[in-house]
Amino acid sequence: MSNWHQRTPQKRSPGIRRAVWRRDSGLCQHTRVDTGLPCFAPGAVVDHIHNLADGGRDSAENCQVLCQWHSDKKTALESAAGRRKARQARSLPTSRGHRPLGSLE
Ligand SMILES: [Zn+2]
Repeated sequence: MSNWHQRTPQKRSPGIRRAVWRRDSGLCQHTRVDTGLPCFAPGAVVDHIHNLADGGRDSAENCQVLCQWHSDKKTALESAAGRRKARQARSLPTSRGHRPLGSLE
């Protein structure tokens, strides 16, 4: 049972996904904050480092293989950031910034 949410459909090139998977050997490329080393768990998805919705490009440079755990974590962080942004837009005109995605563990 999964609570997988389909993200908004966006244009993605299957050729890029294949190339990224090959480049990353199908292993999770997320760098762990604690060790500074890549996770290297068996990959589950090809992820856009910068969301297409945030102006990221659909290119191999902007893609990485992630394991399911890191993919879930990034998705959760992004939706939390989105909610925070929406809240801030209502209350504070200045934001304390946008945390880079490297801060997820
Ligand atoms: Zn991982």
